[in-house]
Amino acid sequence: MSTHLTEREIALQQLAREFVDELIPWEVEAEMNDGEIPADIAAEHREKASGLGLTAINMPAGLGGRGYSMLEQTLIQEQTGRVTNALGWVVSTGPSWIEDVVTDHQAETWIRPTSAGERHECYAITEEGAGSDVDGIRSTAHRVEGGYRINGEKWHVTSANLADYVFVQAKLADGPNSGSHALFFVDMDTPGVECLEVPAYTHSYSHHHWKMGFTDVTVPDANLVGSEGDGMSFSHAWFRYERLMIAARCCGAAGRLIAEATAFAESREAYGSKIADYQAIQFMLADSLTEMWAARLMTYETARSIDAGADVKAQHAQCSMAKLYASEMANRVADRAVQIFGGRGFMRDNVAERFYRELRVDRIWEGTSEIQRIIIADQLRKRGSGPLIG
Ligand SMILES: Cc1cc2nc3c(=O)[nH]c(=O)nc-3n(C[C@H](O)[C@H](O)[C@H](O)COP(=O)(O)OP(=O)(O)OC[C@H]3O[C@@H](n4cnc5c(N)ncnc54)[C@H](O)[C@@H]3O)c2cc1C
Repeated sequence: MSTHLTEREIALQQLAREFVDELIPWEVEAEMNDGEIPADIAAEHREKASGLGLTAINMPAGLGGRGYSMLEQTLIQEQTGRVTNALGWVVSTGPSWIEDVVTDHQAETWIRPTSAGERHECYAITEEGAGSDVDGIRSTAHRVEGGYRINGEKWHVTSANLADYVFVQAKLADGPNSGSHALFFVDMDTPGVECLEVPAYTHSYSHHHWKMGFTDVTVPDANLVGSEGDGMSFSHAWFRYERLMIAARCCGAAGRLIAEATAFAESREAYGSKIADYQAIQFMLADSLTEMWAARLMTYETARSIDAGADVKAQHAQCSMAKLYASEMANRVADRAVQIFGGRGFMRDNVAERFYRELRVDRIWEGTSEIQRIIIADQLRKRGSGPLIG
């Protein structure tokens, strides 16, 4: 399991692995029930994750988190990627990007309660006309006496059904910073906040992705994150973090698929032999393992370079490379796993079928594969490959 990991890192990896092994038996129940498992079991999972130190894993100790290194977080997230139906999301990751700008009021009201599992956030950035091109958002924030009035419509707001506050990104409509982005804490019960639609998606998750409306939603100055005009920088910090964690989870998913497909190939017979004896099957497994290892090395190395304080632009490009490669790798592995399982691989109670659907979004959210390539090529042209890959 390890690539030069310390004893502490191996122990944490093992702890997360054993916890996720307890979640895996609930996958089919979740799949057959729109992502839901019995409420008491879900509560048990949350409590256990918290007791094991597997909540608020990205939050600094000062904000009620665990203070893990980036590599340690990567190791934990890799394990959570081994389970389908978002059951691994019980290992929570709060808004760690806020550390440098959070006010005492914001820390007390939203952030520490989030680390403690008492409050839950969601993110409303994407709109009907603006996804990759975040600067194209049309939501507005007008200055009013003592605060801001927000208007707009947001798409794909993940976990909105489980959240009690939402980070909303809008463009300032007036004042000295007019036209720049700002980010706000908005409690879900603020007048003017509404769910417009609960669309159906490819996966079966208990976390829904709402279309949300914000109509004359008024928030006080105290709800502004950082300063006016800072909005985009927070998105970039969050993207870097989440792209690396997607890479980690994709490695975990690929590892599980390779293990399951190998076990099946060893037990399934056709034409008088185990299918694992056929080179056609062996080559699919060999390619999968090789690519998964490459993705894991990139992911761990990126985490280590962040822990070592690498230049932020290099971090940005490395996180993009890790996300691009690992997400495309995991999709190839899932496709091969379905093939190895044959007809069983097309049944919803089969892990390969679920991952085949679920992993597809990893090439889309937090920046599509095309956007990652644009970021990488841009950095390559500006700085050359040395600062990016050594
Ligand atoms: C399940 C799910 C959950 C999500 N959760 C959230 C959330 O919680 N909060 C949130 O704010 N958003 C969320 N999103 C939105 C997600 O981040 C966007 O879908 C993603 O960034 C892509 O934007 P888009 O869908 O508007 O596609 P578009 O930006 O319209 O892209 C369409 C296609 O054009 C390509 N493209 C765009 N620009 C270029 C270019 N310059 N060069 C080459 N190709 C280009 C893209 O790669 C893509 O293939 C979620 C999305 C999904 C599917």
